[in-house]
Amino acid sequence: MKNRISILDTTLRDGAQTPGIGMDFEDRFLIAKALADTGVDVIEIGFAANDVEFEWMRQIAKYIGNRKHSNNKTVPVVCGLARVLKGDVNLAYEAIEPADPDKRRIHLFIGTSEELMDYSHGKREKEIIDLIENNTREARQFVGEQGQVEYSSEDALRTDFDFLVKTIQTAIDCGADVINVPDTTGFAIPDKYYETIRAIRKRVKGIEEVMLSAHIHNDSGNAVATTMKGIEAGIRQVEGAVLQLGERAGNVDWMTVVTDLKILREYYGVDVAHIDSSMFNDLARLVSSITGYPIPLTHPVTGKAAFSESSGIHVKGVINNYQTYFVVPPELVGRKTDIVLGQTSGTNTVAYFLRKSGYGEVGKNYTLEQLAEMTSAIKRYSTKIKDGLTDTESRLLAEQYVKGKSAEKRVKLTDFNSRNSKKGKASVEIILDVDRKKIIEAGEGKGPVDAYMTAIKKALAIYGELNYWEEKATYHGKGAPGFEILDRMKFSAEEYQLLRDNKTTSKGQEAIAESLVEILYEEEIYQGRGSARDITSATYKAITMAFDAIFRLRDF
Ligand code: MN
Repeated sequence: MKNRISILDTTLRDGAQTPGIGMDFEDRFLIAKALADTGVDVIEIGFAANDVEFEWMRQIAKYIGNRKHSNNKTVPVVCGLARVLKGDVNLAYEAIEPADPDKRRIHLFIGTSEELMDYSHGKREKEIIDLIENNTREARQFVGEQGQVEYSSEDALRTDFDFLVKTIQTAIDCGADVINVPDTTGFAIPDKYYETIRAIRKRVKGIEEVMLSAHIHNDSGNAVATTMKGIEAGIRQVEGAVLQLGERAGNVDWMTVVTDLKILREYYGVDVAHIDSSMFNDLARLVSSITGYPIPLTHPVTGKAAFSESSGIHVKGVINNYQTYFVVPPELVGRKTDIVLGQTSGTNTVAYFLRKSGYGEVGKNYTLEQLAEMTSAIKRYSTKIKDGLTDTESRLLAEQYVKGKSAEKRVKLTDFNSRNSKKGKASVEIILDVDRKKIIEAGEGKGPVDAYMTAIKKALAIYGELNYWEEKATYHGKGAPGFEILDRMKFSAEEYQLLRDNKTTSKGQEAIAESLVEILYEEEIYQGRGSARDITSATYKAITMAFDAIFRLRDF
C-alpha cells in the first residue's frame, strides 16, 4: 500500500458553508494561493451549481490549477463538487476546465443513509444506484483518463453497510478513482470508522486500485481521532479545512492531522513530507483575518497559547529544554516558543525573561529584591488587564524595576476628533502630549485607524507600521453573555460580600472594547493595548501605547 497521505482542503467549499462565514472572490483566491504554497494536493474550490461561485471557481482553476498561469510553489488539483445530477456534473466540469487536464477533479456525492433518503432527497436505493452509475460515467468522460473522479456516499457511517458497498462498487466500476467515506454528521466512533474502512477494503472489488478518503466532521469532538483511525485502516486522502471550518462543528483541522502524522511518524508510518508545515501559522492567521473569527487561544498547532508557557512550574522545565512540555518543535509549524509573563509567573520565570531580553543576571545586574518587586508588579498588572503581558509591557516593567527608570508615559493622547467622509475617507485631528510638550497634528486614511496612524507618525517622526490588530470585547456583569446562568444560582450574603471585597477591576458593568496592536518599527515589534467604550478610542490608545514604548525602550 502506498504510504503518502494526500490532503484535500475544503475551506473554500465545506468551510464556506460554516454558518456565519462569508468569503468573496479575493478572500477565496488568497486562501487558494496560500494552500498551493503549503503543498496541499487537492483544493475543493466550490460548488459550481451555486451561480455566485461558478465564475470564481473558473478563475481559481485557471491561476491555481494551471502550470502556465500559476506562480505558486506547487500546482494542486482543483476539485468541483457536484450532486449526482447531469446538470451539476456539466457545471462542475466547466468550473474546473481552465485547470490543466491532470489537475481537474469532479467530486460526486449523494446521501445514502436512511435519514438522508427519507428527509433530504427522498430517493430510494434503485434510483440512487442508477444516478451514481450514469453520473460517474459522465464525469469520467469529461475529465478523461488524465483527470480524476471522486465519489462520496454522504453519511456513509449511518448507511446500511451492504448498500454502502453497492454504491462504492458501482462508482468504482463506472470510473471513480477516489472513494471518500464521509462521517457527515460527525458522530462516528473512531474504532467503528476503522472497522468500516477495513470491511470496505475486504468487500469491494478493485478497492486497492483507488484512493480511499476520509471526510470527518467534528460534532462529537473526535474528528482528529477518527481521521487517524481511518489512516490506520488504509485511508490515504484526508479532507479537512483550515481552523476546523465547515458545517456545524466543522471539518477536521487537517493541519493538526499533518502535524500529528509528522510527530508520530514511527507509529503511523505514513509520509506527509510534501506538506510545508512551516506555513501553518501564517495560513491559519490569514484565514482568521479573512473570516474575522479569532483562532481559539488553545487551538492545537495554531492557537496563541499552544507554544507559550506562563506558570512558574512549567517554565523551569521549558527553560532547561523546551521538549519538557512542548512535543511539537515550534519551528515545524512556523512558531516560536514564548514565555508569557502573567498571574502565575514566579521569580524564575521573570529572571528567565530578563536574561532573554538583555537585562542580565540576578545578583549581578539587579538585586533579588528588584526581581521580587517586578514579579509582584507583573501579577498585579496581569490581574488588572485579565490577560498575560505582552513582550512590550514586560520590558516596560523591566525598565522600571530593573533599570530604575520612571514609569511615566512619554507619549500621551490628550484629545482627538475623527470624521468619516462620505467618499469613504477618514480624517483625524489629534493633540499629543510628548515629553510635556503639546503637539497638534492631522491625518487622513481609508478609515479612522489608518488616519490616526498617519497623524501620529507625522507628529512623532517615527515611521512605524501597523502590523497586527485584534479587538476583544469584554463585558462583565449582568446582561453579559453567559451571566444569565448566575440568575439560576443561589448566592449567600457572605458570598456577595466576598465578591465585593475582592473586586479587582474597576470595569464595573460597562461594555469594554479592548484593542491589541503591534507596531513594526525598524524590524522590531512593539505591542500596545487600549480599552475604552468604543473600539476606535481603544485602538487609538493602543497605538499610542506602542509608540510610547518605542520612545521609552529606545531612549529617544
Ligand atoms: Mn462536509
